[in-house]
Amino acid sequence: MENVETLTLNNPEAGALFSSSFATATMQQVRDTNPGSGAAQDAKLGIPPLLLVEGHQGVPPELSNPTGEPTSPYGLREFQFGSKSPLENRIEQKTESPNPEKLAERYGLKCDSEFVNGQRVYNFYYEGAGGKRNEVASANRLEEAERLLKANRDERVSRVETHFGVKVSRDGETQSFRGENHQMRTPNIQELAALEEGLSKAQPAQYTKDGKPLVFNYGVGNIGEGDNPVSFFLPDNDGHARIVMQNDATYDDKLRTAIHEISHNEQHAIGAFDNTDDYAKTFGMHRGQQGVLSLKIKTNEWVLEGKDKDEYYKRDWSKENAEKNVWIKTDYDGNPVKGKDGKPILITNDEAQKRARITPATLYFPNPIEDGADSMTNFRHSEKLRAELLQQSPQLYESLKEMDKRQMDKYYGTNADGTSKYVRLPDGTVAANNEQNRTRIAQFERQNRTRSR
Ligand SMILES: [Zn+2]
Repeated sequence: MENVETLTLNNPEAGALFSSSFATATMQQVRDTNPGSGAAQDAKLGIPPLLLVEGHQGVPPELSNPTGEPTSPYGLREFQFGSKSPLENRIEQKTESPNPEKLAERYGLKCDSEFVNGQRVYNFYYEGAGGKRNEVASANRLEEAERLLKANRDERVSRVETHFGVKVSRDGETQSFRGENHQMRTPNIQELAALEEGLSKAQPAQYTKDGKPLVFNYGVGNIGEGDNPVSFFLPDNDGHARIVMQNDATYDDKLRTAIHEISHNEQHAIGAFDNTDDYAKTFGMHRGQQGVLSLKIKTNEWVLEGKDKDEYYKRDWSKENAEKNVWIKTDYDGNPVKGKDGKPILITNDEAQKRARITPATLYFPNPIEDGADSMTNFRHSEKLRAELLQQSPQLYESLKEMDKRQMDKYYGTNADGTSKYVRLPDGTVAANNEQNRTRIAQFERQNRTRSR
């Protein structure tokens, strides 16, 4: 196939997704399942035109406090529908519709009930980070609950779109992927909460290469193959960069997926898809000489550089080992080298992470694009994961911090003396570059560097 030359990543796992009609230079995607878990697929890349992004300059819009003092988790308060408190939203009527659970499910919520002053009151909530209960609405009439939940959802949709300059799919829309029409839906409240937190931490990575809004597509049913298809990023589908968000089980999975997929959009915007060889250097990988055929798509293999001189590995995509997530020892060009017994030398994915010259942040590093997206996800996700990254891979931490700073300077601007206007706090949120916040970051880094020794 002619377009084979444009595909730059080694990606047999993702091959299953592609029909031959899908494998064109303009149709690319990066897909994942539960990134960070190590069980995942990856990338299909091509060469879209290079455009600089204009029109997204300015202050991160959700930074409401000039000191950059982080709020919880980023200034978002639940119960913000209308100006009423939850109690005032409780309606003094006794008519009940039959099925609160169904209503809750429709909005990605759970429901329980209690008696308040002799009246049954239904409480609707979603399970957030770590399964924590987040109240959304309470009402003693389900009709009223439904009205509140819809208003809450719609307000979240408009907040996400307005604050972050993205688009979110809506009930009743149809979107075509790989020549197949899929029915779209409005994301539910739990999905929107995870997306909003994800965007607050990934920003400004949601800004696209061509300046058009990044679109988040939520399908009615699955989009993709298999019972449990994975989320993925499409640099150009119907004129927009899109992320197809599948239905991850928990809030934490949804959050991680959002940050990871948005990182792919950023990779596209900074040219990592066009020049993956250059990008790969940051992650201690280089392109091997051998190609690998996955279904009808030929891609290059990627070689992982080990700690020792002349120590290299590549993922073993051979028939017997492709499913095993193992790496095979090679020379610089990716040709397998044999051990003294004349047999190939295989190591597990965990061992490959330990042997890597630049330690990947997670166990998901089949190629530089996935290593990059998952490592950047750890940098932006939370204080805990950023600390882990710093401890286990100090050099990668510095590279990612620099990449992140470059993007923030580009979109949020610099001061007259060239310093950044904004910085990323250890918890992943963006805050003003002032003395207090610089000190906080420095303290965090000092503590975690010490701990790693
Ligand atoms: Zn990915």
